[in-house]
Amino acid sequence: MSKLEGKTWTWETVIGLEIHAQITTKSKLFSGASTKFGALPNTQVTLVDVAMPGMLPVLNEMAVEQIVRTGLAINAEINLYSVFDRKNYFYPDLPQGYQISQFSDPIVGKGEIEIKMDDGEKRGVGITRIHLEQDAGKSIHDMDPSFTYVDLNRSGVPLMEIVSEPDLRSSAEAAAYVRKIRAILQYIGSCDGNMERGNLRCDVNVSVRRKGDPLGTRCEIKNVNSIRFLKQAIDYEANRQLNIIENGDKVTQETRLFDSVTGKTRSMRSKEEAHDYRYFPDPDLLPLQLKKSYVDRLSAELPELPDQKLLRFVNELGLSLDVAEEFVFEKEKADYFEPIATGRDAKLVANMVRKDVFGYANFHSINISDVPVTPQKYGELIDLIVEGDINNRIASEIFILMAKTGKDAEVIVQEKGLRQLSDTNELEVVIEKVIEVSEKQVAQYKNGNQKIIGWFVGQIMQKTKGQANPKVVNALLRKKLN
Ligand code: ADP
Ligand code: MG
Repeated sequence: MSKLEGKTWTWETVIGLEIHAQITTKSKLFSGASTKFGALPNTQVTLVDVAMPGMLPVLNEMAVEQIVRTGLAINAEINLYSVFDRKNYFYPDLPQGYQISQFSDPIVGKGEIEIKMDDGEKRGVGITRIHLEQDAGKSIHDMDPSFTYVDLNRSGVPLMEIVSEPDLRSSAEAAAYVRKIRAILQYIGSCDGNMERGNLRCDVNVSVRRKGDPLGTRCEIKNVNSIRFLKQAIDYEANRQLNIIENGDKVTQETRLFDSVTGKTRSMRSKEEAHDYRYFPDPDLLPLQLKKSYVDRLSAELPELPDQKLLRFVNELGLSLDVAEEFVFEKEKADYFEPIATGRDAKLVANMVRKDVFGYANFHSINISDVPVTPQKYGELIDLIVEGDINNRIASEIFILMAKTGKDAEVIVQEKGLRQLSDTNELEVVIEKVIEVSEKQVAQYKNGNQKIIGWFVGQIMQKTKGQANPKVVNALLRKKLN
């Protein structure tokens, strides 16, 4: 939904996102505790993470490196001077009583990300800032009917908060923006982008206005953790606000929650202002001072970014823009495809892996990296097609057998006798038999019906159990029929 049709007016949705991305590091932002996922509750906690009095935070250099690289990847200003502030609030899972974050002097300043907007044009979405902060712990309400438990494993895990300008105008644009950010983070390895685990989650700010009017009052929907939910939440919220305004009421600025079961948002609390948090510089931490040479080095060492890969896939590998975008923005797909395509017919590889490998992953609801045929082994299957040993259809059948048995393509071809029939003499016999019993179709061909060739090919494929070489069959058929 991109147009917001009210009773009285066509409204415009305005969206700005705050993305919380867990930075990929071995240890926490200010302590040596592990950040590994899936550990038993409270096993990855140091005295710093439980905020024992007198403990001092020590900044994790790797977290700084990752956020600087992220800033560079979105063409943002890197602030050589930045400050850590305390953001004070009470939560049972926040033992410090404050979160160490950055307020007036974030480490990354203004940047921009280009996305394809709803009108098909590419435009920039402004990035306001990216700052470093600690994650809180987790309150667990469903383990006991009368107690709430607290797990501090996540307490102190490094996050970067990526704040956008209110430049997005529809749920589709917001989704494209998140996909792009996720891809960039994954390419440079600063966040794994795993939304199911909550390693990348969005606070979504939504308002509506008549086109051309100043910004309307916004609501902020907290912690949306899938792209599907993001779209649902925005569409629901925009319509809710529009109905309020058209009924002559005013939208109240507040924090809301998205309920994925009902597809609706509901009020959580009234909006707090920055001054409610009593931000002040953390006296335990010196301002962070970076050298320009350090930033320059990280810039020079950045790997290929999604936009660069996209250009390369289109210009050098000859993929269509749609297919290239599908591969590039789902990094797993690019990772599978690229080693196979290197040195081979990229278009053929793209068609085949989409049908076989991505189809298989989709059907079995597994990650592409968990498909039991490696890119190397799949490449060997492609080589059999190129060498004329098998055709595409048989290759797809062989792929399924490879996944099932773990055997190599060549072995399966041998065992099952699947090698393609290219022998002219053998094929001629089959073709002649088909022509003999198909007087009607032969007549149609002679009357100029070229399409009937396809029917003949089908017959011959049937007789050869799909193993005939389609190119040879086509050539022989035409010769015989003419
Ligand atoms: P806070 O930190 O209190 O949530 P900010 O002013 O930093 O507030 O804005 C947070 C996010 O809200 C930003 O992504 C910004 O683009 C977005 N935003 C601000 N005003 C609006 C608005 N009227 N409609 C939609 N989004 C908005
Ligand atoms: Mg906010």
